[in-house]
Amino acid sequence: MISASSRRLAKPLIWSLITLAAGVAGLSSERLSLAAIDVPFLLLALITINLGTRLAVKIPHVKGQVNLSAAFVFLALLLFDGAAAILLAVLAALCATLHFSRNALQLLFNSALAAISTCLLVGALRLCFGQLVVLPHAPTFVFLLVICLTAALQAFFHSSVLALGARDDDGQRPLWRMLSRTYGWTFLTYFTFASAAGMLAKLIGIVGFYPAIAATAVVAMAHYAYCSYLKDARTSVAQVRQFEQRVATLQESEELFRSAFDYAAIGMALVSTKGRWLQVNRSLCDILGYTEEELLATTFQKVTHPDDLGAALANIKQLLKGRMPTYQMEKRYLHKQGHMVWVLWSVSRVRDRNTDAVHLIFQVQDITDRKRAEERLMHDAFHDALTGLPNRALFIDHLKLSIARTQRTPNQMFAVLFLDLDRFKIINDSLGHMIGDQLLVGIARRLETCLRPGDTVARVGGDEFTILLEDLLDETEAVTVAERVEKELSVPFMLSGREVFTTVSIGIAPSSIGYENPEDILRDADTAMYRAKSLGKARHEVFDKAMHAVAMNLLHLETDLRRALDRQEFFIQYQPLVALDDFRLQGFEALVRWQHPERGLISPMDFIPVAEDTGQILAIGQWALHEACRQMRRWQKRYPSDPALSISVNLSGRQFTQPNLIEQVRDILADTKLDPRSLKLEITESVVMENIDTATEMLRQLRALGVQLSIDDFGTGYSSLSYLHRFPIDTLKIDRSFVMQMVDNNENIEIVRTIVMLAQNLGMDVVAEGVETKEQLALLRKLGCENGQGYFFSRPVSVGGAEKIISDTYTHALPAENQAEVKAIRPALVA
Ligand code: C2E
Ligand code: MG
Ligand code: MG
Repeated sequence: MISASSRRLAKPLIWSLITLAAGVAGLSSERLSLAAIDVPFLLLALITINLGTRLAVKIPHVKGQVNLSAAFVFLALLLFDGAAAILLAVLAALCATLHFSRNALQLLFNSALAAISTCLLVGALRLCFGQLVVLPHAPTFVFLLVICLTAALQAFFHSSVLALGARDDDGQRPLWRMLSRTYGWTFLTYFTFASAAGMLAKLIGIVGFYPAIAATAVVAMAHYAYCSYLKDARTSVAQVRQFEQRVATLQESEELFRSAFDYAAIGMALVSTKGRWLQVNRSLCDILGYTEEELLATTFQKVTHPDDLGAALANIKQLLKGRMPTYQMEKRYLHKQGHMVWVLWSVSRVRDRNTDAVHLIFQVQDITDRKRAEERLMHDAFHDALTGLPNRALFIDHLKLSIARTQRTPNQMFAVLFLDLDRFKIINDSLGHMIGDQLLVGIARRLETCLRPGDTVARVGGDEFTILLEDLLDETEAVTVAERVEKELSVPFMLSGREVFTTVSIGIAPSSIGYENPEDILRDADTAMYRAKSLGKARHEVFDKAMHAVAMNLLHLETDLRRALDRQEFFIQYQPLVALDDFRLQGFEALVRWQHPERGLISPMDFIPVAEDTGQILAIGQWALHEACRQMRRWQKRYPSDPALSISVNLSGRQFTQPNLIEQVRDILADTKLDPRSLKLEITESVVMENIDTATEMLRQLRALGVQLSIDDFGTGYSSLSYLHRFPIDTLKIDRSFVMQMVDNNENIEIVRTIVMLAQNLGMDVVAEGVETKEQLALLRKLGCENGQGYFFSRPVSVGGAEKIISDTYTHALPAENQAEVKAIRPALVA
């Protein structure tokens, strides 16, 4: 039966074939007499339809097969003549096609092909051998020829149709090649069928129709059974092959898994529920530093960091109970070398299909580098980069914990020590920042040695350190630590081959005061530290309620100061400066006073430091300078003299470093019309020494204005005599502490003598401050000190008081050298 697709042939050709076949079929049915349609014919038709159309031989290389019906058609040809064969062929083709298609065109086309091919065969056989029904009785040679011709023609016809279809399928192949490929096989099949039909026809001739057909049916059944057996066998073989293939695939994937396991970049392991390593890969061995054998001989518990073991086991327990399918945590293992390895540990549960045992699968990723980076970032956020000590944030954190602990258990006590290096700025500026840094690191290391485990030392500012002392019995313990720190730091530091000395002022705030937040205790420790500084540095002070009161007082002072200038609460007192040889009045020092509405007169010693801290000193200083210059100008106009009276005005550190100081002084001089030479600006020694370079430049510019410059309180600050000659200074004012104790302290006399000599050598004037007694005066005169200022001559007095002094001593602008005419401040002494 031909099943080649009729779709592939041109439609007109198909319809022509169908029409032709219809004609052939019509002619055949007309020729077939009704008498010929007997029981044997009907039986043959039935067998053809039911058996012949179902059994087929497949033709290799193409989509096609030859139905067994071809054999029955040939049998019909031999038994019932050509017309019967043609009609049976059409019927067989129709039924065979129905087995696989309901397409009408296909049905018609295949039937048409069967009709035409059978018609051609009939024609050819008739042409060669005449009557067909007599053929079974023909001699064997002729009969064989009939069979061969039948097979050859049918095979040619069938192969041509198949070749046409197949050529359409794969396009380019030549027709004859396709024909030659299928023809042999098709011929063989048709030859077999034709032979079988021939033999059957002969058998019918001998035994009669029915027995022969019965025998044929038996053979057909046997053949069918055999085919079924073969089909089953083929199915079994296919199933076995499929199974084998599946096993091979499994083996392959297991091998793949094995190599993925062995060579995985992350550590992997199969672990028993008890923790024994059952299988480990290379990466895991590398991560932990053990060989495979070593690991398999141990448990995961043995190599887990003890601090993480509890959590790991708890999670495994949850996992085994089925509470979670998988678990992941960051944990630490212990490397064989003893160091710690941070890993991202994923664990999941598996069931062994063979033994049904439950195991654990570990995936272990080394994250030590990431952890280190995180720890570094964390450390940097909470530590001081220079000394490596905890920073303010971490200290406050610790402090919070201590406060919370003390609140829970009130008999527990702690204390905070606030340390500030004395004169660190000077060391930094004079010896350089590198030495300064080394000193801070050195101090940090020494502070650490003074502490007990559990205590915290932090660097909270440039030269500020804090210490948290925990679990104290009483505050004397804190004092003991402070003393230990002082002692430890009193040993000089060897920095870059230099011996550097330093001292520290310490404020202690004990928790017994009752703190609720860290800032308060730090503030109070800081206050105590300031107290220690003001009491002479290099010492410690314990914060107490009185200090708190002072601090509160300061706070109020600060608030009041803000309004004082607007409310005109400041005024100036003037203290005369006198030439010690003839007591001639040389000028005044302007000293600011604050008349507080409630507290009365407040000393500059009390409010100037506060004003310095808050920056208000700039406005107060500017006002004082303007006021003093204005006043002196008025006096000069009223009491002209030669040399003219001078006015000394103090400049604080903050004022001295303000960038627009030069402009300010220039403007005030211009505004008040005071001759710059009549203005003396007093700056303390430490202000100059703290910023040597900028100070020199500032002094130079002030000097360029024509203003005179004095170093105030000389001898008390950090003196670097070697620098002194570099500064454009006119006057040194010897601090009153030397002058006042001169009489009964030889050492002070020597200091005064040295300063006087130094000033003379540098071409500077000297003024002795704090001259209170006749004896002091006499000594100063003896030492060659030129000028003095002090209660002996006059206390600071009001404008009126100062004016009275001027008028009392006024000598109508007499030249200075006219000694006889000089009116002294204390004429009695001149005599
Ligand atoms: P100073 O510039 O050294 O002023 C001299 C201080 O010594 C004054 O104190 C004065 O009253 C005091 N004094 C003078 N003679 C004697 C004496 O014989 N015995 C004793 N015991 N003391 C004497 P005062 O007025 O309290 O001023 C203290 C400091 O306040 C001044 O020291 C100065 O540094 C600062 N100050 C005063 N007025 C101003 C100002 O307008 N601006 C700035 N920045 N500071 C000022
Ligand atoms: Mg002064
Ligand atoms: Mg002074």
